[in-house]
Amino acid sequence: MNLMDSISIIGTGYVGLVTGACLSEFGMKVICMDTDKLKIEALNRGEIPIYEPGLASLVAKNRSAGRLVFTSDPRKAVQRSGVIFIAVGTPIGEDGSADLKHVLSAAASIADRMDDYKVIVTKSTVPVGTSRMVKKIIQEALQRRELQLEFDIVSNPEFLREGSAIRDFMHPDRIVIGSENERAKNIIRDIYNVLYLIDTPFVFTSLETAELIKYASNGFLATKITFINEIANLCEAVGADVHDVAKAMGMDGRIGKYFLHPGPGFGGSCLPKDTKALVKIGLECNSPVSLVDSAIKANEFQKRRMVGKIERKIGDLKDKVIGVLGLAFKQGTDDMREAVSIPIILELIEKGSRVKTYDPAAMANANKYAFAGFNITYCEDEYEAADGADALVILTEWNQFRHLDLERIKSIMKGRFFFDFRNIYEPGELTTLGFIYEGVGR
Ligand code: NAD
Repeated sequence: MNLMDSISIIGTGYVGLVTGACLSEFGMKVICMDTDKLKIEALNRGEIPIYEPGLASLVAKNRSAGRLVFTSDPRKAVQRSGVIFIAVGTPIGEDGSADLKHVLSAAASIADRMDDYKVIVTKSTVPVGTSRMVKKIIQEALQRRELQLEFDIVSNPEFLREGSAIRDFMHPDRIVIGSENERAKNIIRDIYNVLYLIDTPFVFTSLETAELIKYASNGFLATKITFINEIANLCEAVGADVHDVAKAMGMDGRIGKYFLHPGPGFGGSCLPKDTKALVKIGLECNSPVSLVDSAIKANEFQKRRMVGKIERKIGDLKDKVIGVLGLAFKQGTDDMREAVSIPIILELIEKGSRVKTYDPAAMANANKYAFAGFNITYCEDEYEAADGADALVILTEWNQFRHLDLERIKSIMKGRFFFDFRNIYEPGELTTLGFIYEGVGR
């Protein structure tokens, strides 16, 4: 078998499904495998279980071309492929470290079914040393099975962002490949040949370095956001405008303009868990990453600060109607994992407010995973959420919230309070229209 005749992806979530769809778009035959049978059945009916712009058409195109198939049968995924990516979840464990149970069980599942040389690639975000653990699991299983099969382990962390995942996968800033030998390195490099040909930078490293690059990147991004959030709070205290501060800071090439947008704190499926895992790795190695630890604490404070801002403006929250625009942790996704909307809305409810909300993609997940059992009104659109509200709160920067019919909003709201926690409006414009505006850091 030519190793790249077929590639398998174990775990068909945000990363696995996007990886599978994009690699099949590069012309490879891809098998996406997941233990969640309902998810696989849905995919085989042509349904896409997540919201990710452009993903549905890419999956449909490559399925009908016969390059992309879905299965819940691990044997099929392992035995028909030379290269197997592990893209299962690594959620936060009880002690803050990454919970590796899915990665280790995927490794065991591969080991029990291997029948030929394979390259096993960890794409999940995993602590330093995990790829070696995967190697050990496979070696031990092969010994038990009395098989002498060769295999290689590669670490290939993923940097895509939900909401722009396909673009990020197809035009990455870099591809990181951690490996132990030239053979494995070249096989994975060839998988990304399309990107190599368009001059994408490739970074070839050891397994440990590749694993740490991912955590160091996310730790830095979380720290950068938190830095500007704290500067935003300081701007409020001294009467400065954080947008001007961030813009001028970003003009300095050493600082860079990205990730300097203040807001209600970072959330999502990666930064919260990866920062905690990085701190844990540092503690375990007696090499503290105290800056990231501080960023985690400051971020918790930032989330709690938002309800305080609302309360300071409108007073007692009991029996107030709050219209909330946006639930997802960022625009362009239905992902509610660690979304800042969760603690903010729960605190509003706890303080006696009635919450009406609208999100273009995340309401089903919000209702199912974050707010099950809570009395929240899910609305048809932005205007229904604003109707009769004492205050409107923007929590996710969906593009469609940037051009609200503000006259209409004003006419249907009961109150005038407009909390723009993503700073998507100009304070002057809203004030002129008669709103009482509150952003972050201005
Ligand atoms: P996800 O929860 O969306 O998907 C994980 C999938 O793995 C699920 O469908 C689950 O059913 C499946 N699974 C679990 N155990 C399995 C097993 N043993 N065999 C087969 N399937 C199994 O997770 P995700 O957001 O795609 O993240 C996957 C990894 O990629 C994580 O380590 C994450 O930190 C990392 N990552 C995520 C993003 C992102 O934006 N979501 C970006 C970069 C890296």
